[in-house]
Amino acid sequence: MFKKILIANRGEIACRVIKTARSMGIATVAVYSEADANARHVRLADEAVLIGPPAARESYLVADRILEVAKQTGAEAIHPGYGFLSENEDFAEACQKAGVVFIGPPASAIRAMGLKSASKALMEKAQVPLTPGYHGENQDPGFLATQASTIGYPVLIKASAGGGGKGMRRVDRAEDFEAALVSCKREAINAFGDDDVLVEKYILKPRHIEIQVFGDMRGNCVYLFERDCSVQRRHQKVLEEAPAPGMTAERRAAMGLAAVEAAKAVGYVGAGTVEFISTQDGQFYFMEMNTRLQVEHPVTEMITGLDLVEWQLRVASGEPLPLTQEQLEINGHAMEARIYAEDPDRGFLPSTGRLVHLSPPPETDHVRVDTGVEQGDEITPHYDPMIAKLIVWGSDRRQALARMRQALAQYRVVGVSNNVDFLARLVAVPSFANAQLDTGLIEREQALLFPVAGEVPADVWMLAALAELLREQRLADKKAMQSADPHSPWRALDGWRLNGRAGRRLVFRFGDVVQEVGIEAVPGGHRLQVGSLQIVARGSLGVDSELQAQLGDRRVRAVVVASGERRQVFFEGRAWPLSLVDTLHVGGAGEEVEGGLRAPMPGKVIALAVEPGAQVEKGAALLVLEAMKMEHTISAPRKGIVKAFRFQPGDQVTDGAELLDFEGVE
Ligand code: ADP
Ligand code: ADP
Ligand code: MG
Repeated sequence: MFKKILIANRGEIACRVIKTARSMGIATVAVYSEADANARHVRLADEAVLIGPPAARESYLVADRILEVAKQTGAEAIHPGYGFLSENEDFAEACQKAGVVFIGPPASAIRAMGLKSASKALMEKAQVPLTPGYHGENQDPGFLATQASTIGYPVLIKASAGGGGKGMRRVDRAEDFEAALVSCKREAINAFGDDDVLVEKYILKPRHIEIQVFGDMRGNCVYLFERDCSVQRRHQKVLEEAPAPGMTAERRAAMGLAAVEAAKAVGYVGAGTVEFISTQDGQFYFMEMNTRLQVEHPVTEMITGLDLVEWQLRVASGEPLPLTQEQLEINGHAMEARIYAEDPDRGFLPSTGRLVHLSPPPETDHVRVDTGVEQGDEITPHYDPMIAKLIVWGSDRRQALARMRQALAQYRVVGVSNNVDFLARLVAVPSFANAQLDTGLIEREQALLFPVAGEVPADVWMLAALAELLREQRLADKKAMQSADPHSPWRALDGWRLNGRAGRRLVFRFGDVVQEVGIEAVPGGHRLQVGSLQIVARGSLGVDSELQAQLGDRRVRAVVVASGERRQVFFEGRAWPLSLVDTLHVGGAGEEVEGGLRAPMPGKVIALAVEPGAQVEKGAALLVLEAMKMEHTISAPRKGIVKAFRFQPGDQVTDGAELLDFEGVE
């Protein structure tokens, strides 16, 4: 085994490789650009060497400089991570010539799989099923148009050298073909310096299912099952999971064998991924092979219990594959979400800036966070704006999904726009929860994923409150069943109290709108009050968060997904991402707070619940503060007037800061 390796990458994948190397007693050398002088991968590595200015082509892509550092530091091998030089055959070859092991496949395999058209031709020979289409050399526009008509519309024009979802055009009608071809070629030449394209059948409602393969230098090759990466936006992966929902043992074996055939056809060594596009009825076709460790490899690790980086290091140092196909097994279900610094509401535009506050959910046996940044670090415009990968495991998909929801609800990122809330909505959408997967899911569910600002209908507040009451009831029932006297009247939650009927309230928030729902128990249900509107509500809450409700004389259905303080209400085709604001009112008692109400702990102002100048009753919600990962209501200590707020939503406040001017009235 190697004693020292160099990692020719940055960010989370560099940190990921260092972790395994360390556990195997292998020393690590990091390389970094001027923009990364203080980056996490530099802090973690045993040694770190500056290789150039921020721009990747002057640092992380300079093969000669990186090889020179390997020589200087005595690193015996180079792990390229993904992206950058990982699929660069010249680099793999240069490593070999320099006597440094490239931790990846031979240059010849990278070359064979490098172009989508050439690799398809090769796969055809190896009898791997291909998407119907033309992948030959003739690039004459008229010829390609004829091919498209033969294939049958819709078709997909793909840049042969493409990657990362770029250089693809779907064409639905013959009359649009030529224009699409011109624009696709233009994008391809700019992005990849090569404008050759192929044309294939556009598969409707497809799923992206890929197979992890592994080969060693002795000719062994195995598959480590599949990952479903169908949840995409603009052909880029957003959520990945393993195994693929609905996969049968037979189809898994067929896809696995096809992938192994594909790998063997190019003399593959190390970790690789064969990507297939699959129809809803399970037919699958080869799309491309990625000759490197994939971003989403952790979901495979979670279901196999293996460390793929360890396998890479073993294979690269000449050892045989640690396990045979028969010894490999799937255990449970895993999901990964890519946490990005980007703004979902502005076309997922990357966001840059300092991570003023960063607190991921705590890592456990079931929750893993792979990241290259820490609080205080900067997301710069120079590289991919990925903040982290959040990976969860469950004994089945439902449990994994519940853990993913929980973990996303706990994730806090402040300082850059990010997709955490978007992901939280995505994993709550009923079609995703029910595994109705295809690559169009995000687009189709737009109305639920991109809630527009607007007034929240009273029904939505009421449904959220009703779901909350039903959830409380369920918990109480569960406790009662576990206790000695399940039928004790003291355990009933029907609102009956010694001192007459109990009134209480729940507080919800949508953006900066805060709404109280008054609740009063009545026979057979609850009277809910929103503003001046009163309705008697009752209903039942299913295991899938499905709410059947009776609101007055109307029967309605909704889905109310709870995770942390988030309450996603799906109702009449729209989504309302609410939060439940805790009802432990933290306003002080009586006289001592005259003049001002102070923050009970450091935090962030989330919302103002009333207008300045408003007259309020005792206990009314005034302001919502987020602190210690919870939302807290600052409420009126008594009847009075809110004279002014000292902070606006978004402001950070210190412990004891005076939040607002309050004046009591008789
Ligand atoms: P996958 O199929 O695994 O998602 P892609 O084809 O999308 O892979 O490529 C991975 C992408 O990750 C590359 O396009 C590259 O821009 C980006 N990338 C490369 N290195 C890093 C890194 N260290 N951290 C985050 N992203 C990276
Ligand atoms: P890249 O190199 O950019 O990853 P791929 O060939 O792997 O390109 O395709 C990326 C994505 O584009 C796939 O995951 C899938 O969503 C979509 N796609 C590719 N080929 C087809 C096809 N023939 N029909 C429908 N969608 C496709
Ligand atoms: Mg791909």
